[in-house]
Amino acid sequence: MQRTGVNNGTLKSQNRGLVLRLLTTGECTSRIDVAKRTGLSKMAATNIIAGFIEDEILEERETIQVGGKGRNPIQLGLSPKAPKMIGVYIGRNECSVVLNDMHLTVLTKAGFALTRDNQEHLFDMICRCIERIQKKAPDERIWGICVSASGAADTENGGFRNLQETAGSGDVSLKSLLEEKFQMPVVLENRYNGAALAEKLYGNGRDVESLLFCGICEEIGSGLLLGGGMRTMYGIQSSLGHISIEMKGRQCKCGRRGCLQMYASIPMVRAKYRKISGEELTFREICRNAEKGNALAVETLDDMTDRLACGLTNAVNMFAPQKILIGFDGCILPSKYMTRLEKMVNEKSLPGDHIPFQKPALGRNAGIRGCTSRLLMDIFNGELL
Ligand SMILES: [Zn+2]
Repeated sequence: MQRTGVNNGTLKSQNRGLVLRLLTTGECTSRIDVAKRTGLSKMAATNIIAGFIEDEILEERETIQVGGKGRNPIQLGLSPKAPKMIGVYIGRNECSVVLNDMHLTVLTKAGFALTRDNQEHLFDMICRCIERIQKKAPDERIWGICVSASGAADTENGGFRNLQETAGSGDVSLKSLLEEKFQMPVVLENRYNGAALAEKLYGNGRDVESLLFCGICEEIGSGLLLGGGMRTMYGIQSSLGHISIEMKGRQCKCGRRGCLQMYASIPMVRAKYRKISGEELTFREICRNAEKGNALAVETLDDMTDRLACGLTNAVNMFAPQKILIGFDGCILPSKYMTRLEKMVNEKSLPGDHIPFQKPALGRNAGIRGCTSRLLMDIFNGELL
């Protein structure tokens, strides 16, 4: 419970948001739990919860009889009628529009491929997908729209810096355009931060205060949550893929040389395998071959993990996260290489607590499920309540 530095209205909203977060994510399951956890009085907690039940955001569940004396507290959880969120996920080659519930479960999805030919119509195509989603779920209440892309969310201008890298369309003020068209709140987030937040709320980030999410795909991106991770990195993009691991290495499009993603992103790993074997394989096939002991596939993944270990050690020496998650296509990486990576980074980084490496609990969907997590976090911070 927050007490200082905010006015009464803000404090009330923050407390309501906190209660909603604890009961939605399952961190608390009853009124008494909530009171204990937040420091709110039982009466205050009960009143806040009554409001959410009346608004059909939370619901009472059947009590599970655990035995022993006395009544078991009534269980509380998210109501199926609670408002949903629209997420727009802009990847390198595709754009997906989803309807997510507050557990970040994808309920409905629409989308299209991003090509050089259609990039200038990005906004119109996103709008059409949102309208399709709205038609599929006409009775749902909607909290708002969250747009998630590779660039850094530019909170002042309402666009993504470097979106042209993704869609070739230059900086786009998606926020104001979407707000005007759909008349609902619109927030933006970098897609790796979104994935990190999703893991913080519902996945393998729940048990730590600081987290580095490393997404390996056509590029290498990172979501960094520090100090509890609830709002610290809003609008800021950490770019693990552009940490240089070779000062005189390969030229990167960012202008520097030797960037990590010039060696360990999926296209570069596939190119390396192609160069030494003459064979064109997918990353999944390379991983499978490496597991079978194929020497060239092993050499390729050894090189990939060496490079990743170098970049991640730099990041660890700078931020000392309590855990590192390897996600997106990195989820395919065989466990042997995850172990290798974890060992190398922990051996090379400066002495500190052992940093465990895991894959995201939300799997390869962490990005798309996380594309509404910034909006959800705003709700949980009391900003939309
Ligand atoms: Zn670069």
